Amino acid sequence: MTRVDLTVQGGGIFGLSVAWDAVQRGARVRLIEREGIGAGASGGLVGALTPHTPEGWNPVKAFQLASLLRAESWWAEVDAVSGLSSGYSRVGRLQPLADEAAVALARTRAGQADTLWQGKAVWRIIPSTGEAWEPASPSGLLIHDTLSARLSPRQAVASLEAALRAKGAEIVIGSAAEEGPVVWATGAAGLEALTAHLGRKAGQGVKGQAVSVHLPGYESQPQLFIDGLHIVPHADGTIAIGSTTENQWTHLDTDTQSDALLERARQALPLLREAPEVARWAGLRPRAASRGPLLGLWPGRKGHFIANGGFKIGFGVAPEAARLICDLVLEGRDQIPSDFKPLDRVL
Ligand SMILES: Cc1cc2nc3c(=O)[nH]c(=O)nc-3n(C[C@H](O)[C@H](O)[C@H](O)COP(=O)(O)OP(=O)(O)OC[C@H]3O[C@@H](n4cnc5c(N)ncnc54)[C@H](O)[C@@H]3O)c2cc1C
Repeated sequence: MTRVDLTVQGGGIFGLSVAWDAVQRGARVRLIEREGIGAGASGGLVGALTPHTPEGWNPVKAFQLASLLRAESWWAEVDAVSGLSSGYSRVGRLQPLADEAAVALARTRAGQADTLWQGKAVWRIIPSTGEAWEPASPSGLLIHDTLSARLSPRQAVASLEAALRAKGAEIVIGSAAEEGPVVWATGAAGLEALTAHLGRKAGQGVKGQAVSVHLPGYESQPQLFIDGLHIVPHADGTIAIGSTTENQWTHLDTDTQSDALLERARQALPLLREAPEVARWAGLRPRAASRGPLLGLWPGRKGHFIANGGFKIGFGVAPEAARLICDLVLEGRDQIPSDFKPLDRVL
């Protein structure tokens, strides 16, 4: 008789979330992480849980919405069991609107959000008030959405790890035997392995850099999204700034692109000019060839499954990714959209 119902390979947000969903269903889980919990893309600084725009509805947007709506109670449960804080808070988000065209588009999206977000969150247009935390907006108007949230990536993975241990999951750093079905949640390395296995590109790691500054007093303020920059206040008085996107890279260190990122943020929000930098970090986002989630059977390997493709929104979609994988692996219920399946997508 096996002592373990499920083995999870990889201790990033996907692997930890799959393990958590499984223990919540009563499964005995072994999680094997090669280097250390949060050693990959999940050990970063930003932690913006933000929605795609409410239009052009598709399976990825529906999946992301379901995950963002579940996140608050999901993280509350994890934190209650671990006794730690993930730093989760549904703070919302502000975005400036550059001109009349942007305002018109935002109004259309506000109407679509009324329908698509089922009244559970709003996307609305509000006037600027000129407060220091607000982004300057040439139109005098801002988008405010109440779906966006934030968490601290490092605290969140620590809270999940502690919650898993509290529930009796076995966590191995290094290597160990696999028992039962195996879910591979191995991020960028997993996409490389799948590429080698298939002999065609399944995805790749996309480098990103982020910076963090110290500016207490704004912990409960909404996060900001200005010209592609995420500015995210955290509960510990730091403000995270993300991120660069580098398809070509030769090393995983931070470099002058982090300087440029910080400078752009200071231009966009003058309040940040006096805030000292406290951290910078680079990681590899796992981007599947489809650019969407990669969830389902490992092609050609019986009893092996894949949970990957978090790319830029891995923390936001992890709860739903975990639910879909555990439904399939532990209960034989396949509710994974075919667009997400490695077999349908890659072969
Ligand atoms: C700069 C930057 C900013 C980001 N900002 C955000 C954001 O604001 N919001 C958001 O939602 N997402 C964000 N992301 C994306 C998010 O971090 C990723 O989507 C997510 O962390 C991917 O999680 P993962 O568990 O799939 O991969 P990883 O976190 O990389 O975990 C994979 C793990 O598997 C381990 N591993 C590899 N091979 C093996 C093996 N053979 N056996 C066992 N273990 C193995 C690795 O050591 C690693 O710990 C950002 C990413 C970057 C780089």
